Amino acid sequence: MKLFDFNKYFPDETACRKVFKEMRDREGVTCQHCGSHDVVWLESKQQYQCKHCRHRTTLRSGTVMHGSKLPFMYWFIAMHLLTATKKSISAAELQRQLGHKRYQPIWEMMHKLRSVMGKRDDKYTLKGNIELDEGFFSTETPDAQKQEKLKAGAGSQKNIFRLIQPFNRL
Ligand SMILES: [Zn+2]
Repeated sequence: MKLFDFNKYFPDETACRKVFKEMRDREGVTCQHCGSHDVVWLESKQQYQCKHCRHRTTLRSGTVMHGSKLPFMYWFIAMHLLTATKKSISAAELQRQLGHKRYQPIWEMMHKLRSVMGKRDDKYTLKGNIELDEGFFSTETPDAQKQEKLKAGAGSQKNIFRLIQPFNRL
């Protein structure tokens, strides 16, 4: 994907957030409390709510963005740079480009993106699209038990969400 296209499809935080939510909706949301897939989106809260136990899930929860306070746009920009360029970009360089004050959160973001992408290098051959796969949605919780519970209750965790190409539809 070219920089101009990236800017066109992801001009601001709202656009990034919207695309991310569409991707998550397509993947399916699993209640982390009871494992149900039956959720409703609460627009006013910007959260999903389980229809069974009413447990709420944020848009980022259970994805690679879990726990991050960085804007969605940072993640998309980082993803773009990691997939669209042949050369690697350092966290320090990205921090400079973004004009972000702190190094640590940028480093963590890059580290997480690299770790979910690392195993899937073969899928990241760019042919004009950003290709985001299930790595973007995989849970990064250190709690192994919780992971198991999630897997057991969630078909979505096993789904191969291989390529999401949101702009193909545009
Ligand atoms: Zn639930």
